[in-house]
Amino acid sequence: MPRSPLESSYVKEPGAARRRRRRAAIAALTLTLICLAGVAAAPPAGHTKHDPIEPALYRPAPDIKLAVDSEAYRSAREALPPQFLNFETRRFVVLSDASPRWTREQTALLELTHYQFKRFARRFGLRPRPLRHKLVCVLFEEQEDYQKFAKDHDGVTAGWISGYYSPKHDRVVFYNIESDSAHARAPAPVLGFGHMARGRITDERVRASIATSIHETVHQLAFHTRIQSAQIQNPLWISEGLATAFETDQPRQAFGPEYDYPIRLRKFRELLEDDASLIGLGELVRYTEMPDDHDETITAVYHQSYALVSWLCRFRKIQMRDFLGALKRERPGRPTGQRHLELFEAAFGDVHSLERKWLRYERARMTKDPKSSPSDRKPSTTSLR
Ligand SMILES: [Zn+2]
Repeated sequence: MPRSPLESSYVKEPGAARRRRRRAAIAALTLTLICLAGVAAAPPAGHTKHDPIEPALYRPAPDIKLAVDSEAYRSAREALPPQFLNFETRRFVVLSDASPRWTREQTALLELTHYQFKRFARRFGLRPRPLRHKLVCVLFEEQEDYQKFAKDHDGVTAGWISGYYSPKHDRVVFYNIESDSAHARAPAPVLGFGHMARGRITDERVRASIATSIHETVHQLAFHTRIQSAQIQNPLWISEGLATAFETDQPRQAFGPEYDYPIRLRKFRELLEDDASLIGLGELVRYTEMPDDHDETITAVYHQSYALVSWLCRFRKIQMRDFLGALKRERPGRPTGQRHLELFEAAFGDVHSLERKWLRYERARMTKDPKSSPSDRKPSTTSLR
């Protein structure tokens, strides 16, 4: 049976060398397993030219050679027990105590997300800054260890989330939602799978975990490459809208704001049907923090931001690019909600008029296509305005 593309991203070391390295590593309490994603000269058996993503993984390594060492790496390494091993891809260094299989899948997911993020940036004429070093990712096998690390080192207490991005330490952190203990303990996940049979929940949890990994990695890429500035407090709609617009549970297919994610779309449509659940756009674009901690508010902010960014990326491409540029040029600090509204209107015009056009489009689309079927994944071919 052909190895899967994800497994093929790794090149095993010869046995003797591996044993020598392992002994040295145990002595030093570190072991670096080099993952040579993209170095394979030819696609493996089973490679199909129909998959738009795989070529990026198998293309010969470009002329980048990023350093592992960075402040982000050192801070993660110092905070973790010595049994965490290093895994490297072209652009990421992953510190993991999780199962090798899940670690491999996660590292491939990071590279896939980078590939789609770069593709999006290129299509939008954005100019992401080059990576300054390999980006840091931490993987935990156990949810309890993850929660403790999140709380102690990153101040993250929402331990039920399967992953997060820490802007302060420029790292993404995840735990293995497929591990037995995680199954036994974890509550239903964030994406609205609350009332399903156990087996189905497990399946949905894995899918949600993939989407979360992509979501958090997009945050990391957006801030590290300065598509978004960490010097100012960004409005929630753009930060969370961008990250949710990349979510997918089918990462082997192209993904990003031009492609629907049916789970987000379905939830947004529920809000749309019950008009009272929607937050006015004039309000939404002012938020830099959640206005309250009610589930309904959080759900509305995330799903409206998802739908808004997806729509803007399809129909207001140039304005979207200009908006991101203007936001970065703002004076460092915390712009007021009013200032965020001004920036929004400077790029996209009157907020109420835009809201009417956007929601009219969404309602018409919902009537035409009541289900968010897989065919929704086709990118929009409508001309950009
Ligand atoms: Zn987020």
